[in-house]
Amino acid sequence: MRPDRIDKPPATVTPNLADYEAARAEPPWERARSWLQGLPDGGLNIAHEAVTRHARGPRAEHVALRWIGKDGERRDLSYAQLERRTNRFANVLASLGVEPGQRVFSLAGRVPALYEGALGTLKHRAVFCPLFSAFGPEPIAARLGPGEGTVLLTTARLYERKVAGIRDRLPALRHVLVVDEDAPEGTLSLPALMAAASDAYEIGPTRPEDPALLHFTSGTTGKPKGALHVHEAVVVHHLTGRYALDLHPDDVYWCTADPGWVTGTSYGIIAPLSCGVTMIVDEGELEPRRWYGIIAQERVDVWYTAPTAIRMLMKAGAELARSYDLSSLRFVGSVGEPLNPEAIWWAQEAFERPIHDNWWQTETGGIMVANLACLPIKPGSMGRPLPGIEVAILERVGEEEGEGRGEPVEITEPGVEGELALRAGWPSMFRAYLGQPERYARCFDGPWYRSGDLAKRDADGYLWFLGRADDVIKSAGHLIGPFEVESALIEHPAVAEAAVIGKPDPVAGNIVKAFVALRPGYEAGPALHRELMAHARQRLGPAVAPREIDFAESLPKTRSGKIMRRLLRARELGLPEGDTSTLESY
Ligand code: ATP
Ligand code: MG
Repeated sequence: MRPDRIDKPPATVTPNLADYEAARAEPPWERARSWLQGLPDGGLNIAHEAVTRHARGPRAEHVALRWIGKDGERRDLSYAQLERRTNRFANVLASLGVEPGQRVFSLAGRVPALYEGALGTLKHRAVFCPLFSAFGPEPIAARLGPGEGTVLLTTARLYERKVAGIRDRLPALRHVLVVDEDAPEGTLSLPALMAAASDAYEIGPTRPEDPALLHFTSGTTGKPKGALHVHEAVVVHHLTGRYALDLHPDDVYWCTADPGWVTGTSYGIIAPLSCGVTMIVDEGELEPRRWYGIIAQERVDVWYTAPTAIRMLMKAGAELARSYDLSSLRFVGSVGEPLNPEAIWWAQEAFERPIHDNWWQTETGGIMVANLACLPIKPGSMGRPLPGIEVAILERVGEEEGEGRGEPVEITEPGVEGELALRAGWPSMFRAYLGQPERYARCFDGPWYRSGDLAKRDADGYLWFLGRADDVIKSAGHLIGPFEVESALIEHPAVAEAAVIGKPDPVAGNIVKAFVALRPGYEAGPALHRELMAHARQRLGPAVAPREIDFAESLPKTRSGKIMRRLLRARELGLPEGDTSTLESY
């Protein structure tokens, strides 16, 4: 029932990456580059690869983007139409005097204009920086200000409610484009400008190293950092679209992430379009019936989502999933947080498909470690490094050691935990932290990029996530990863979500404390509390099981759906909450 290895049935569609070992034998970057077209002068531009080359080839009439509005309205844009719309946007920027390298921010829900704006910005060689539309004025100012946004693409309503009042703090902001016909004072109506612009545009010379994207991290561990990416990142987007998500050209693909988070841009815009697929964009929010309805109606082949969403679907029950025809699903992927083994077993039952967890960060720009279509899944493992990505487990160095930290020491023995590191130099590696050059430099140690996440590698080369360095608990001489404890708690039928922190203790150093949110139909109380304590002790042993369990209505999460353990810790200990700009209301 709960195997620790899932061997997949013979594939109906041969995976793009069918022989993992062979593919790892040589760096794939040249091959991946040859799958792209490049600009006539030898340059490389993300939007050319995502749109123009398809629009000028046999896939011109293929649906690139199928937009589903909040109320069910449906709109298709072919590659040829997307080409013309994005050309118009690039011409709008040109007519406003926006220069390559300047920054275009977006603050909008998942509407077609956001996607046109992103790609038009890249065509014009300006830098695209997406924000979550739910951000309030302060988080907006904290990003647009230091990011020196020249242009903001938004809606009249969002502008009036959130931006107008902070505009005087944004001296670099020259143009606000609203997607509405009626533009509030101080803004321009984008539809009018688009209508007046030409739909022809030739992308100017773009070098692979030219800046393309600025993404803010999720703010799970502290103040969000701005990570800068270049056009060459498209090599990784495309390769991982093929290899990690197994995108085939005739696939219908749905990434549920909002472009305000790096996943929603790398895999909600660039990777799928560079592979020439049809991508679904849903303007609506997560609602199990809506989501299953979309998969069934659109016949989604490849679905990329996140653990927090899967846990929400689990809460609604496998029955509901099984009442929809989800047979079109060929490949399901997940990213953003560790995927509890329970979620994989549940998906086997609910979708008759396993879920492929993969790992990456805003800084890495694309998927680095993945459970691949061609390999068995080990539930709880994030999989194996993508071809071209070299991973090391390094001995940890203390924060305080900082500079003179000596040579990085690699741990080669399987099963020993350390810090997950990547050999620097993959094409989608971030090139800077906005305004923080020392912090950027500190991420690199000899040949390695240190991720700040702790992991171990097993004898088969699979990587297992333990926790973020900041979240790992030292208790009575043990190093305890919150993920392992949370996963055990989630196996109990009453538990929908769990978060685990270390709470200082005079004897043990720290004790493990858990917060759990219950599934519908379960009642918090002493009986369930006793049962959960016993369940955890039985599953984990007394040294690792939580000493305290609190019931919570819900858990604090970032807008990208990550549990903010630091906030639970701060509240528990009565410490300042720190930056909460990405906190989803809860
Ligand atoms: P901040 O850096 O601002 O604290 P963040 O690290 O959450 O926020 P992101 O770049 O969006 O910002 O998230 C990357 C992190 O998410 C990873 O470093 C890791 O901790 C976690 N993560 C992503 N995917 C996985 C996964 N499959 N398994 C475990 N953890 C994951
Ligand atoms: Mg991070």
